[in-house]
Amino acid sequence: MFDARFLVVGQGLAGTVMVDALLERGVSVHVADQHISGAASRAAAGIWNPLTARTLQESWRFSTFIPLALSYYQKKCAERNIDLPRSLPLLKALPNQHSLDHWNRTAENPESSCVISNGSPPANHQDRLQIGPYCGWVKGAGQLYVAEFIEAARRDYIETGILQEAYFESQGVEWMPQGGLKWNNNRYEYLILARGHQERFDQVFGWLPFNPAQGELLSVSSPDLQIPFIVQASGFLLPLGTQRYLIGSTYEWDELSPIPTEKGLHELMRIKEGITPLNLQIDAQLSGIRPTVADRRPLIGVHPANQNLCIFNGLGTKGVSMAPAMAQMLVDHLLKGSNLLPETDIQRFLGRYRRSTLQA
Ligand SMILES: Cc1cc2nc3c(=O)[nH]c(=O)nc-3n(C[C@H](O)[C@H](O)[C@H](O)COP(=O)(O)OP(=O)(O)OC[C@H]3O[C@@H](n4cnc5c(N)ncnc54)[C@H](O)[C@@H]3O)c2cc1C
Repeated sequence: MFDARFLVVGQGLAGTVMVDALLERGVSVHVADQHISGAASRAAAGIWNPLTARTLQESWRFSTFIPLALSYYQKKCAERNIDLPRSLPLLKALPNQHSLDHWNRTAENPESSCVISNGSPPANHQDRLQIGPYCGWVKGAGQLYVAEFIEAARRDYIETGILQEAYFESQGVEWMPQGGLKWNNNRYEYLILARGHQERFDQVFGWLPFNPAQGELLSVSSPDLQIPFIVQASGFLLPLGTQRYLIGSTYEWDELSPIPTEKGLHELMRIKEGITPLNLQIDAQLSGIRPTVADRRPLIGVHPANQNLCIFNGLGTKGVSMAPAMAQMLVDHLLKGSNLLPETDIQRFLGRYRRSTLQA
């Protein structure tokens, strides 16, 4: 009766991971996506970092999410014949002796990702780094080439005939009295919207507290830099191989430009100056809008008034580490009725939904 059981809209990181999770369970799925400038996944640096910047504590549920994420990315990258996710050491600049003392006290806990530090940057890189006299190594960080990952998945979906390059509008959906929906002449049981920050423009889920943040990056190159690890200061430097690096990223909450800006360039140059004194060749400037949420937790779940309409969003600044675990959770919820994590379930905003229906 259905052309496919699920229709996923959006093929950024969220949509890709969701489609793969459904296919892995043997469930039929179609995906609709149209390139819209400002998509977060096409700009993402793809770093996973176990530490929260300020407190040095583990990022929310990181040690639960990351093993699942890495085994999924490794499998799919190998199947799709692209670069595997890479573990990378991360050198974090610290502002002063007090922070270094805090760092070393934290590092005494064997479960911490901080490594006990004498504070100094590595001697063989000192002339190319400008990060001040205090720093420490973080273990357990790494990077996935996100744009390459979603592009490889896209080729796969086109080849298997499940991807439509189409702009989706919720007004074009016909909800069927016998259950399910019709869109573009196809019938589905469930609709999952994974449209990133664009979701806030549609009233269907527009009542959720999206708080998007534009981010910009510089793609640079230098034969002299030769830094084989991530450096984190007021921003980061990420080695991509073959003398290429990413410098990022900015956070802009007010003027959300889908394309790179002068203001972003200025900020990125400031970040660069805080990491290395070398002149780097700028190859490109990228911009994307992160789907961040007021309470910094994902937005997963089923619409309060329609059990066939779901959202997979709110991956914010940590899509790489969180997306695979979140997708498993939503698939288990829909197929087996298991509970979502309350912190991620959109039910936590039921009050907002009710207020929005009263105002309508
Ligand atoms: C500069 C920057 C750096 C980042 N660095 C990192 C990092 O190092 N590590 C990390 O974990 N995360 C990082 N992130 C965050 C990460 O990119 C996001 O968490 C993640 O990519 C969000 O994916 P998404 O699929 O929800 O959204 P998006 O990537 O925005 O994807 C949404 C997709 O839906 C499509 N779409 C939207 N509306 C429609 C429609 N109506 N019809 C059809 N298609 C539609 C869009 O074209 C797009 O393809 C970064 C983000 C930015 C901007």
